[in-house]
Amino acid sequence: MNQLASTDYKTYLGEDELPTHYYNVRADMVTDHAPILNPATLQPMTVADLEPVFCTELAKQELNTTDRFILIPEEVRDFYKMYRPSPLVRAKFLEKALGTPAKIYYKFEGNNTSGSHKLNSAIAQAYYAKQQGITHLTTETGAGQWGTALSMACGFFDIDLQVYMVKCSAEQKPYRKAVMETYQARVTPSPSSTTNVGRAILAEHPDSSGSLGTAISEAVETALNTENCRYVLGSVLNQVLLHQSIIGLEAKAALDKIGETADILIGCAGGGSNLGGLMAPFVADKLAGKSAPHFIAVEPASCPSLTRGRFAYDFCDVGKVTPLAKMYTLGSGFIPSANHSGGLRYHGMSPILSQLYHDGILDEARSVEQTSVFEAAELFARVEGTLPAPESSHAIRVAIDEALKCKETGEEKTIVFGLTGTGYFDLVAYMAYNNGTMTDYIPTDEDLEAGFAYIPKLEGIQ
Ligand SMILES: *Cc1c(COP(=O)(O)O)cnc(C)c1O
Repeated sequence: MNQLASTDYKTYLGEDELPTHYYNVRADMVTDHAPILNPATLQPMTVADLEPVFCTELAKQELNTTDRFILIPEEVRDFYKMYRPSPLVRAKFLEKALGTPAKIYYKFEGNNTSGSHKLNSAIAQAYYAKQQGITHLTTETGAGQWGTALSMACGFFDIDLQVYMVKCSAEQKPYRKAVMETYQARVTPSPSSTTNVGRAILAEHPDSSGSLGTAISEAVETALNTENCRYVLGSVLNQVLLHQSIIGLEAKAALDKIGETADILIGCAGGGSNLGGLMAPFVADKLAGKSAPHFIAVEPASCPSLTRGRFAYDFCDVGKVTPLAKMYTLGSGFIPSANHSGGLRYHGMSPILSQLYHDGILDEARSVEQTSVFEAAELFARVEGTLPAPESSHAIRVAIDEALKCKETGEEKTIVFGLTGTGYFDLVAYMAYNNGTMTDYIPTDEDLEAGFAYIPKLEGIQ
C-alpha cells in the first residue's frame, strides 16, 4: 500500500479528474473509533479473525489506521471510468423555485445502471475477491441497490453471487430481482429457510418482513459454510467508507475548480457510507484546523440511530455472528416500520461516522419524516429533472430547509448535498405518496427501549 503524506488532495487526481487513491480518514482522526471486538473473546479483531469472512485485502483495509492514501487498482479505475467522475451539478432551477439566495450543488451518484453510489465499493470489493481467487460471494440487500451494484460488479469479474434480500423489499421490488438475475446473481428473500439463523427467526416470527440485520446473518452463515466463499457488505464498514471517499475527493476537486467553498455539506445516512465518503476530505481539512463546512447527516424519523440511538458496542446483525462495533445503534433486534427508504433502515451507524458525531466533527444529525421527504423529492424531480431515490431525498429535504432559512436571513450560503441515486425502482413509494396513503410512523420511546434491550451488556466494557 502506498503511503502519501500531502494534504493537497488534488495531487491524487489523475488527468481524467478521477482520484488515483482512496483517502483513509481514519489515519487523520484524532480519536479513532473503538476497536471492533471478537464477540467470543471480546478482544479486538485482527486480520486473521476477519479473514474467514472477508477477503484478506479488505480485512486489511478494515483495520488500517495508518495509510492516508491507498492506491486504487488500475482495473477498478478503468471500471470507474465508465461512469465517473460523477457530476457536481448546480441546482439552479431548485434555487429559483425556492427563491433562495443560497447556491445549491449536488454530487450525483445515480449515473450508472445500479442507480446509486454503491457501485463504487462493489467494484472494489469484487476486484479484491477476484485477486484472491475467491469464486463465490454472499451479501444482503435491503432496498436492492447494493445487491444490484454487487451483481454488476460480480458479473464483470465473473464471480458467483448469492444475495439475501430483505423480504418486504423483495416483495415491493420484483424488478430489482430481475436486474440482479440479469447479471447472474441468485436472489433469496430473507428470512429464508436456507440458513440456520433464517429458520430460527422464522420459527419465532413466521410473518417476519425481514431486516438488514437478519439478511446479514444469513449471508455470513452461508459464506462460512461455502467453499472459497466470502461475505461482502455495502455500507457501515471502514473499507466501504474508504472506497466511497472518491465521492468527496471528486466533489472537493470540482468545487475548487469553480472557486466555490461549501458552507453546508449534507448527506443521507443509512449505514453512513455515502456521507462518510462525501465528508472525508472535508473532515481532513477540519482536523487540520482549516475551515470546513457544517456537516449534516439526515436520517429517517422511523429509524433514528444518530438522533435517538445509544452510542454503545452492539452487534451488526440480528444473529449476532458479526463483530461487536461501537456505534450509534437502536439495537440489533430493532425492526423499523416498513419505511420506503430501504437503504436507511439499518439499526446502527458506521463506527467512523459515529465517532465523528460523538466528537462533534460531524456537526449535526437530523431526522425527517417520510411524507416531507417525498414532498422534497417531487419538487426536485419537477424542477431539476432527475427522479431521486427516497434515501437521497432525505438530503434534498434538508438542503431545501437550509436554503429556505437562507431566504429568511438573506444569507448567500453554498449548500452541497449528496444525491446518492435515482428512484426508478421506488415507484410504489411515489404512488403511495401521490395517492395520499403514505404514513409517517415514528417509533415511540417504548419501541426504542425494546430495541435497546438487544444491546449486549459487556462486563468491564459497557
Ligand atoms: C444504500 C443507499 C443509501 C444509504 O447508505 P449509506 O451507506 O448510508 O450511504 C443512500 N442512498 C442510496 C441511493 C442508497 O442506495
